[in-house]
Amino acid sequence: MPDVYNWQLGRPMAYPYEQAMPKRQWAFVMNINRCLGCQTCTMACKSTWTFERGQEHMWWANVETKPYGGYPYAWDVKLLELLDKANPGGMTWSESDSDERDSALRAAPYGTYDGKTIFEAADSRVTRPEHSQRVLGYLPADAEWATPNLHEDVPPAPAGEKGQWVRGGLSLPEHKAWFFYLARVCNHCSYPACLAACPRQAIYKRPEDGIVLIDQERCRGYRKCVEACPYKKAMYRPTTRTSEKCIACYPRVEGSDPETGGCPMETRCMAACIGQIRMQGLVQMEQDGTWTKDRQNPLYYLVHEAKVALPLYPQFGTEPNGFYIPPRWVPRGYLRQMFGPGVDHAIERYMVPERELLAVLQLFRKDNRIIFRYEIEEGPKVFETEIHGKPFTLYDDTVIAFDEHGSELFRTKVEEPLYERPPERLNSI
Ligand code: SF4
Ligand code: SF4
Repeated sequence: MPDVYNWQLGRPMAYPYEQAMPKRQWAFVMNINRCLGCQTCTMACKSTWTFERGQEHMWWANVETKPYGGYPYAWDVKLLELLDKANPGGMTWSESDSDERDSALRAAPYGTYDGKTIFEAADSRVTRPEHSQRVLGYLPADAEWATPNLHEDVPPAPAGEKGQWVRGGLSLPEHKAWFFYLARVCNHCSYPACLAACPRQAIYKRPEDGIVLIDQERCRGYRKCVEACPYKKAMYRPTTRTSEKCIACYPRVEGSDPETGGCPMETRCMAACIGQIRMQGLVQMEQDGTWTKDRQNPLYYLVHEAKVALPLYPQFGTEPNGFYIPPRWVPRGYLRQMFGPGVDHAIERYMVPERELLAVLQLFRKDNRIIFRYEIEEGPKVFETEIHGKPFTLYDDTVIAFDEHGSELFRTKVEEPLYERPPERLNSI
């Protein structure tokens, strides 16, 4: 297998195809701390793309309650077990030996992953050539696709207590029992496992935006992509006998959907988000697979400058382009397994945000058009306080969002304005 560079692992990695990067890459950041599990995103996708016969079990966008929920059932537990079996105890990371130069930080921001990826672990499982697998994976049983919301809102028992369910109510401190909502869509990975596994070469990654699509004419429904995708975001449709997956609402991203008026727009699941947890955009790519430095792109800032947003299970090796601000009330060991070694830094930065981070966080869901650049106009100091023993100052800065061509999309402030309804217009209900 050729070697490609995976910046999330801080090292080259084996992949069945030569390295080839798109000019721009579709990417998103989700702030888990704000998700309320309303499933509006799930239904926005369902009612747009997967409402026909044969698609009943298909949820391209879903929100699962961690740690017990999962769609398909236990997808991540099963994959982690397979990876550990192929490389016992191998999912470890080394500190980065980066010399703090900017290029080194962008190429290995979380240190180096020492273990095997799903591409590297696949070789060790080959016993007979006819059974050879390019990617370590498994095919979920039909029943595992049947319950997309099983275990919703179910926290694990507090430490020391037995059982999956919390009996006798919860007691303070409340974070002894925890759960969180993990919203998921296809990550339009830089090294897609679905694409790597397809024997028909029916899956391709678009050079203009990195969106990964399945050519329905070429697909023969072998389900190799379903087996290989570690996130289980490729799904089989029995009525057409082909596999389907999230298409990243590409007409909206292109600006060719009638609703967009020619302006690149965020996907349906992003635009519908009630909790304002989501931001999706396009980032510039280098040919070695790293992100081009673009300090004023909000996604670049959140991932590479503030480092508050982290990839989901980077150890799988597909270089997913979905990033998450981890939930601050969840045991760190669980989060480190899910988001890698950047978790402690990310939570620390998020809990006591610096001035620029607080301003950038205001950009989420103020507009459905894709933000390509932001600027900040400094405002007055509002107050000073301490958060967890650290000084914090709030400024009422204005953050301004710009589109692809540099035109202003909107401006918003850190302090939400307060409007007092005049007595003559009081609500009469
Ligand atoms: S998340 Fe899965 S389906 Fe989506 S691009 Fe990555 S490997 Fe393919
Ligand atoms: S719409 Fe937003 S807040 Fe609601 S479940 Fe989806 S990601 Fe969470």
